[in-house]
Amino acid sequence: MSKPFDIGLERLIGQPSYSGVIRDAEAGQRGTFFLETFGCQMNDHDSEKVAGVLLSRGYRQVETPETAGLILYNTCSIREKAAQKVFSRLGEYRAKQSEGKIIGVLGCVAQQEGEEIFERAPWVSLVCGSASYRKLPEMIAQLEAGNQRVTGLDTDTEETFETEMTRRDDPWRAYLTIIEGCDKACSYCVVPYTRGPERSRPSDSILREVRKLAEHGYSEVQLLGQTVNSYADPTPRKLRFSELLLAVADVPGIRRVRFTTSHPSDFTRDIVEAIESQPKICDHVHLPVQSGSTTVLQAMQRTYTRAEYLEKIAMIRDAKRPIDITTDIIVGFPGETEADFEETLSLLEEVKYDSLFSFKYSPRPNTPSLAMKDAIAEEEKSRRLAILMEKQREIQTARNASLIGKTFEVLVSGKSRRENQWSGYTTSHRVVNFASQAKELLGTYVQVRATGATPNSLVGEHIV
Ligand code: SAM
Ligand code: SF4
Repeated sequence: MSKPFDIGLERLIGQPSYSGVIRDAEAGQRGTFFLETFGCQMNDHDSEKVAGVLLSRGYRQVETPETAGLILYNTCSIREKAAQKVFSRLGEYRAKQSEGKIIGVLGCVAQQEGEEIFERAPWVSLVCGSASYRKLPEMIAQLEAGNQRVTGLDTDTEETFETEMTRRDDPWRAYLTIIEGCDKACSYCVVPYTRGPERSRPSDSILREVRKLAEHGYSEVQLLGQTVNSYADPTPRKLRFSELLLAVADVPGIRRVRFTTSHPSDFTRDIVEAIESQPKICDHVHLPVQSGSTTVLQAMQRTYTRAEYLEKIAMIRDAKRPIDITTDIIVGFPGETEADFEETLSLLEEVKYDSLFSFKYSPRPNTPSLAMKDAIAEEEKSRRLAILMEKQREIQTARNASLIGKTFEVLVSGKSRRENQWSGYTTSHRVVNFASQAKELLGTYVQVRATGATPNSLVGEHIV
């Protein structure tokens, strides 16, 4: 049996102490799998765990569906386009089942569409939502034993999806889910339906994993959750989210602690104080606002008003060290008037976000907003989105230009094809492209002085 490991496979190359583990896994080889992921960081990280489960049971991961016995799609259904992508991908593999391949759909579309996927794509034989991933190996075993169709669609679980082994794709930053599901009820969102109720992972298990990651050389961890700051430790220690951040930062070897996504209603002063007191906690907060209009926020069931959100922003801006703030915005929610949209634009002016993700409202099955009247026409949504993006571009251009001349610590995560060009992230998650004569920098922390700026990144030079 293979021993658990918790390290990106690419890091294993040239590390004989772990190559034995891979050989173990290959020796018990039961088949090959191809896994494609659509969607958010949570989905990406779920895929790392699914891959870990399969690798630890002797499966081997391959790069193409053609060479795989098991083809899996980990899907996203947050917006319609994402869900459609999965069905078009499934269409491409229609003929594959007759070649004896097992085709499976995981994640949010699986949870949302359930057994209807078998109707729409009869060549699919496995449908499994994220709350049932623990049962995945049993489900695959059932298929291998001759079952035609298997589903895992329960969401009434107390369990979080923890794995003995996670196949990590990023060799420097490790993602860790600390809370699964969501107990909020935003009227546009499928997550509470597709990922089930909130379940927090015990703090001792989180800290154990962080220590293991640090031993394997990871220096940055990113704590994940749909509402990461709603974390409620189920152990007798009952660590608050801010205490957990501090405890993770205390693990020897850890240099950066990130967290995403924070919900404004649960964003409390102690989180800011933790960032102030511990420089290892990254100075970046992703705080989705969704709209600048209180009327729209109420229709979205976002649990705060514009004024309350701005109080949270003021609290973050008052911190003893600067903290970057990013957000998510939806334009064209049903009933959003021109005046509501103007309020979103004025909020952008007021907060001056460092970056944002913007989306056109997409009506989703099983969500309360589906039944709302006063839908906004697609062209109008596109118009508003373009205006919003242009406004943010101006803000980012000015903001990044104001950073020229400053020096940042950068974790180097990319090497350009252009000679002596590297890239990485600051603690505030700003992308920096920089020049250096150094031979090898990947995975190291370096000082970079910003010499130029674009709307989305800084340009700089390595200070030796
Ligand atoms: N839990 C996070 C939060 O509360 O902000 C984010 C969840 S979701 C994966 C990421 C973003 O997708 C949301 O912040 C929202 O802006 C967007 N989103 C969710 N449902 C949407 C919908 N029906 N149409 C358009 N955008 C949507
Ligand atoms: Fe969806 Fe709202 Fe929960 Fe975020 S907080 S996952 S937007 S329901």
